[in-house]
Amino acid sequence: MEKSAGSRARGPELNALLRALPSVDELAARLEGVPHVLAVSAARAVIAERREALAAGDAGERDLVQAALEWLERAARPSLRAVVNATGVIVHTNLGRAPLAPVAAAAAAEAGRGYSNLEYDLERGERGSRQAHVEALLAELTGAEAALVVNNCAAAVLLAAAALAAGRELVVSRGQLVEIGGSFRVPDVVAQSGARLVEVGTTNRTRVSDYERAIGPDTGAVLRAHQSNFRTVGFVEEVAIEELCALGVPVIDDVGSGALAERVPELADEPPVRRSVAAGCAVVCFSGDKLLGGPQAGLIVGTRDAVDRCRKHPLARALRIDKLSLAALEATLQIYRDPAGALRQVPVLRMLTAGEEELAARAELMRSELADAGVDARVITAAAKVGGGALPLLELSGPVCAVDPARLSLDELARRLRGGDPPVIGRARQGWLLLDPRTLDDAEAAAAVSGVIAALR
Ligand SMILES: *Cc1c(COP(=O)(O)O)cnc(C)c1O
Repeated sequence: MEKSAGSRARGPELNALLRALPSVDELAARLEGVPHVLAVSAARAVIAERREALAAGDAGERDLVQAALEWLERAARPSLRAVVNATGVIVHTNLGRAPLAPVAAAAAAEAGRGYSNLEYDLERGERGSRQAHVEALLAELTGAEAALVVNNCAAAVLLAAAALAAGRELVVSRGQLVEIGGSFRVPDVVAQSGARLVEVGTTNRTRVSDYERAIGPDTGAVLRAHQSNFRTVGFVEEVAIEELCALGVPVIDDVGSGALAERVPELADEPPVRRSVAAGCAVVCFSGDKLLGGPQAGLIVGTRDAVDRCRKHPLARALRIDKLSLAALEATLQIYRDPAGALRQVPVLRMLTAGEEELAARAELMRSELADAGVDARVITAAAKVGGGALPLLELSGPVCAVDPARLSLDELARRLRGGDPPVIGRARQGWLLLDPRTLDDAEAAAAVSGVIAALR
């Protein structure tokens, strides 16, 4: 931005101002009670900022001690912190995907707080496996013989491809050479696994005969990848998982999000894990933190033989799950043993299936609290996406609270909301800011309202 000529220091005047700045050590010494290393960091940052500002023409006075103390306060705040997700996008990858059920969050906190039997068999008093805590649960919930969990679904697919097809051919339909968000590209993952990619069919149509022609003595496996974040429509044909499994070679099924909950109409477009297991897949891979509603994890379920090959592969150690995620995953899977309880307790499922009445009541509460503070808001009907690269066609329509940014631009209102404590992230629509009650509990809805009132003040 152009500064008026009067405040812009040039040449000798600028040099004089720069020389007048204290040295890092001088400024650090004035920060009483601050540990030396921190004081030096703060002083260095503030002086650098000040030099830049002077060079850019800002010759105004500034209290450097005050600036350094403010810098220290900002630096002490955690960088990774809670935000209020008012976007209505349930599995928001940028906002941390699935929020955990309270019991799952508590399990992770408990596992982190002290020692645990992570890899210790309490019965025998000897070394155990971290997989023991979830393997039986996963087998029960999916009908599979065996299970293995790793760091995320990308790791699960990489490990499965390496374990079942490294040095051999991996057959994939051209319609499934997909890119999922965050640079997960099926051809690249196959290349990293050491398998040779054999493409079959076309972008829109692949038939069983295409697979049959490609399969030979060098085939390691067939990979099916779910078109998570897009759909092909019109003149399309895909081979059902049952038919792929009947080809007589191991099938790796990357179902992505993975639906474990049954009879949830909103999940109708996601391939059920149980179906792929029943079809006879060697392994089925899915994410822990998408529609399953748990922590980041990659779940592998399948036949004993195929899962053992994954377990014994050297990559398994490099891709292993950590104890905090494992604790949260076990607690989340426990919830799924009671399907009705899962719909109530797993936040992702609760939000996905939230009733109109509950949403309308929360939207109306936000509207009336905003109106009491003089903010123009109304309840309208709008649709959000599930997010997380799942269910791209599903429109989650429902009542939301629409806020008029008044004298601010929508961008400025959004910027102020992001800068609040806690930061509030909303959704923009035709000049209005939408607060979607679907992804807010009552406390978060109240925080979103306070954030908007403060931002518009
Ligand atoms: C999301 C997704 C992945 C990657 O899962 P992460 O848990 O994020 O690693 C892989 N494959 C499919 C089909 C997906 O939808």
